Formats: sequence, C-alpha cells, structure tokens
Amino acid sequence: YATEGAARVYGGLKDQDRIFTNLYGQHDFGLKGALKRGDWHKTKELVLKGEDWIINEMKVSGMRGRGGAGFPSGLKWSFMGKSSPGRPRYLVINADEGEPGTCKDREIMRHDPHKLIEGCLIAGRAMLANAAYIYVRGEFYNEASNLQLAIDEAYKAGLIGRNACGSGYDFDVYVHRGAGAYICGEETALIESLEGKQGKPRLKPPFPADTGLFGCPTTVTNVETVAAAPTILRRGGSWFAGFGAPRNSGTKLFAISGHVNRPCTVEEEMSIPLRELIERHCGGVRGGWDNLLAIIPGGSSVPLLPRHLCDTALMDFDSLRDLQSGLGTAAVIVMDKSTDVVQAIARLASFYRHESCGQCTPCREGSRWLDLMMARFVRGNATSAEIDQILEITKEMEGHTICALADAAAWPVQGLMRHFRPEVEKRLKDAVAGAEIRSDAGYR
Ligand code: SF4
Repeated sequence: YATEGAARVYGGLKDQDRIFTNLYGQHDFGLKGALKRGDWHKTKELVLKGEDWIINEMKVSGMRGRGGAGFPSGLKWSFMGKSSPGRPRYLVINADEGEPGTCKDREIMRHDPHKLIEGCLIAGRAMLANAAYIYVRGEFYNEASNLQLAIDEAYKAGLIGRNACGSGYDFDVYVHRGAGAYICGEETALIESLEGKQGKPRLKPPFPADTGLFGCPTTVTNVETVAAAPTILRRGGSWFAGFGAPRNSGTKLFAISGHVNRPCTVEEEMSIPLRELIERHCGGVRGGWDNLLAIIPGGSSVPLLPRHLCDTALMDFDSLRDLQSGLGTAAVIVMDKSTDVVQAIARLASFYRHESCGQCTPCREGSRWLDLMMARFVRGNATSAEIDQILEITKEMEGHTICALADAAAWPVQGLMRHFRPEVEKRLKDAVAGAEIRSDAGYR
C-alpha cells in the first residue's frame, strides 16, 4: 500500500509474488511444467530441516487456515506434537470444496496439483505423518483425475513414496473421492466418510489431533493452505507475512461470482479493499458500482453486506468480522439491484436444510423452519411478527449443535434481517395490499 493523502492506495499484487498460476490460462499442469515454475525446488532440503523449523516458519508467515475458520496454521500443524510414538499419524487434505460460490481449491487441483502434493510432503513431515489422504469433492472428476496423474508422476520421479526426494523420509499420498455431501467438508464428517461410514460430524473432544482417522492422530487442513506452504518455506515466512495486514497476512485466492462483468478466481493480497478486488479483476459490477445491492464476501455461510458497507470493506478475517460478516472461504458473491435478495437467502436456507445431517435437533428442525418460513417471506404470505420469530429460531440454532452447519444456516438469515428488514416488511405489506410480488410466485 502507498499512502496518498488520507486514502490508502492499493498497488496490486505483482506477478512475481503470486504463488498460484491459475491466472495464466492453459499450461502444463504436469511435472515438467511444475518443475519449470519452480515446484519441487530444493524440497529435500526443506524436508531435512525438520518439523520444528517448518512449523516455526509457518508461524512466522502468519498464515491462517484458508478453509474458512482462519485458525493459525503453524499452531494447528503443531497440535499432533511428537507424542504417541509407534502410532500411525495422518495428514488429511480437505478438498471437499462444497461451499456455494467457492471454487479456489478447484483451481489449484486443475492448474497446480504438484504444489499440493509437494505441500503434502512438507506438511506431513512437520506432523511426522507418513501418509496423506486428499478427500476430493465427488463432483470434481477432472480435478481428481489431474491430481492422480500428478501423484503418479511424483511417485515415478521419486518425489514421494519411499525415501521421498532422497530425504530418507517415506511418504504416501492417496486420493479419495467424496460422493457429493456438503457436510463432508466438516473435518470429522470427512474422517467418518474416509473410514467408509456416513459423513456425520463427531462430537469433540476427542479432537482429531489425538483421535482422528482410524483412531490415530490426524490433522485435517485445507488445499490452499498446504499448497502455499512450499513457496512460503522457500521464500521465507517473513516474505509471506509482508503482505496484507497484521494478523491477516499473506496472499489469498478470491473466487468472485455473480453480477460482475468477468467472474474469476484470482490471487491477491489479503486485506485488499472489496471494491478494488471487483473493479481490478472482474471489470466491475454489472451496470456499475451504483447498481450494486449487496455482496456475500466469504461463501454462502457468512452474512451479506449491503452496498454502503461494501464501499469500504477490506477482505480479511478481522475487518469482515468487525462488519458482522466473515472472510470464510473468500468466495465473493455479488448481487446487483436486479436480485430478489429475499429469494436469494431463501435459496440458501433450502440448501442448508437439505445438507443438514440431522443429528442435532436445533439444526435438523431449525434448518427446516428457516426454509419453510423463508418460503413464506418469498411468497409474501407471512406476517411481520414472523421476522422476530425467524430471528429467534436462528438464535436457538447458533452455537447449540455438534458442528457449524447450523450457524451457517442461521447467519445468512440474520444478515438479511439486519440489513434488509424494511424491504422485507414492505414486501409483506405490499402482498397484503395485493401488489404483485416480483419474485417467482411459484417458488416451491
Ligand atoms: Fe449434523 Fe447439523 Fe448437527 Fe452438524 S449441526 S452435526 S450438520 S445436525
């Protein structure tokens, strides 16, 4: 950033500081292309530096998990410690990218599978794990296929397997394809699914770092976090920490969709202004910034931001939390003024109802009620008292369940009522007065 008067002027991330290559169109995702781009460079040395050095560099980098929760990665990688000698230990990569609007890990598997495989070796070494399971979303057929081809190449070249990269460390990588359940993106549901059971989240404790896959110490981590690690270690944790803002450092993939002129997935500096991100990389909002209605800044699970908050929002964990939203998976869903925002949020409620695994009453029943009540708001046959009732239901769901899916179902509805309550009330009044409801009257 440069300072120009009172304003912060963002200079944009330089190409040489981009870790991922998805911006550059078609290229060879195989080993030959990866080697040309610097992957697998001095990997043996990185592995030989050992777990303490790797974990420390990740801590210096300030990397926070890119799967959505934003937990500090170096700390997470240290949780399995060095205890339980003799027990197998596993690294599990969460590539079950099912959050609506999110398609960043998909880009890595398409264009940079070797970065992920190299990252698995390094993260696995940090955790003293000898195997990684990459759990790939079932719908990602081509991505799983690219990944498997790259794994086969890496085995053939001696980069993984016995004596990986000549380091004396043995490391295997397996691809496991999911079957299309959103809940399998939750780490313990993912572990259950890997074990061949129904993908239902486990109660914690015990935590996976102690009792995870097959009852053994396990760390589940996101594709982007692990794929970025080799570059971070080669260039140094402090290089990565030099981007973004304090506690929100580094570069990050943002997936921008919806009503923009050129939807894309782009790597940018953390903390980039939301408006800058859209105007620099997507050709702006369809019809111009003034035509913007709202943006969901971090995948469908976080509350939306109305336009006046989008004007100044910064894309990082803490800034978006201060706006009562979140960075989540950094999937930016842009809605212009043609959007029926009530119907958009109703669609999400319907999604979460469908994806609830049904173990917890507040989630199973609450998500059903949110779906049914949002459908009434869409049709206009609710009363304004139901706005408080639906908010009450979201409060009963939040924080009262085994996993965060109930929160994810509750927050979009809370965001809608926080920022668009007058519009919802007007819609209900108009319906009573017999005015035409703009949205599809045949909704469900
Ligand atoms: Fe299943 Fe919902 Fe409970 Fe998560 S919160 S375990 S999805 S019922």
